[in-house]
Amino acid sequence: MKKTVRDIDVKGKRVLVRCDFNVPLKNGEITDDIRIVSALPTINYLLENNARVILMSHLGRPEGEPKKEFSLMPVAKRLEKLIGKPVTFLSSDTVVCKEVKAKAEALKDGELMLLENVRFRKEETKNGADFANDLASLGEIFVNDAFGTAHRAHASTAGIADYLPCVSGFLIEKEVEFLGNAVENPVRPFVAIMGGAKVGDKITVIRNLLRKVDTLLIGGGMAYTFFKSMGLGIGKSILDKDNVELAGELLEEAKALGVKMLLPLDTVCAAEFSNDSPKMIVPRGEIPENMMGMDIGPETVKYYEEALRDAKTVVWNGPMGVFEMSNFEDGTKCIAEILAKSAATTIIGGGDSAAAVEQFGLADKMSHISTGGGASLEFLEGKSLPGIAVIQEK
Ligand code: AMP
Repeated sequence: MKKTVRDIDVKGKRVLVRCDFNVPLKNGEITDDIRIVSALPTINYLLENNARVILMSHLGRPEGEPKKEFSLMPVAKRLEKLIGKPVTFLSSDTVVCKEVKAKAEALKDGELMLLENVRFRKEETKNGADFANDLASLGEIFVNDAFGTAHRAHASTAGIADYLPCVSGFLIEKEVEFLGNAVENPVRPFVAIMGGAKVGDKITVIRNLLRKVDTLLIGGGMAYTFFKSMGLGIGKSILDKDNVELAGELLEEAKALGVKMLLPLDTVCAAEFSNDSPKMIVPRGEIPENMMGMDIGPETVKYYEEALRDAKTVVWNGPMGVFEMSNFEDGTKCIAEILAKSAATTIIGGGDSAAAVEQFGLADKMSHISTGGGASLEFLEGKSLPGIAVIQEK
């Protein structure tokens, strides 16, 4: 078990917290503040317990240079409104400097400040020891709460832990609890649902999950690469040419491991990759030459509903079809509705599946929606995430 902020005495300590404040901006205005809101439980806990809080984050890709459009100033303002307390913003081009150090030293119990975008420094993404040390010199404890960047070994996510004791915030605690338990210690039956565009992107996830799950359901564009490997016709459907052989190998592996790996029974297809293209439902292997698969069909939904009926743990990553187009969203929507009603622990991998669940207004019906796309995939691949590896064990 990883240590969290609850396991240490933070009173009167200067606590450096790595958050994920990588918010979308339009003309300098924050268009969605969910990432800031998600960080509040950890920040409020620290303030209530009289810590001296120093927040840090990256924003966008300034590529190691101080660029005004990537300043965290708008985040400081929004935070101030959300917390109802002053947030001192330290706009230093070098992130840490003499003045910033002095301000950190002068911070009082229950006070809060935010550093400038850590990616204003080239050393950040290179995990440069000097910058990690610079950051560490500001505080006494390091709290990592940025799951979205936990798969990156950067100065502010991993390197800093060479100089300071590291515990997790509540966001990372929740991710580790849900994703970690699902992968290492799932309540069975454990069913994974994989979708999305390409098999290639998710080979290692599928491979790892095959060793853990009881059933694996495949949907989305990746299904056609599996069909191709079985010698079935797929028309003009999206095909991951380089991975046809591998898809065949994964089907064999599933058989050898005794895992039920299910593929769609029917397909909603269209002649063009467009919402206006008339649709047709055909059984597996009967996609006409001039058409492409856009979604799983209603028979598949029933088949997958049955496979999910007794599940106790479900992990879902990747949409079942082109859910961004209303005519081809049904498969993804039906699976989301099945999970919303399920008594199982339902875990939604970040990225597109999370976006789909939000789109259908079902986010609050899931047990856990991961906040990190790349990070949750790496977690499901069974990799050690640098930003989590550095957190002390209890
Ligand atoms: P990924 O990032 O791999 O999870 O892929 C997500 C994308 O896959 C979404 O933008 C979907 O529109 C797309 N997708 C899902 N099913 C299909 C399909 N049958 N054909 C083409 N793209 C698809």
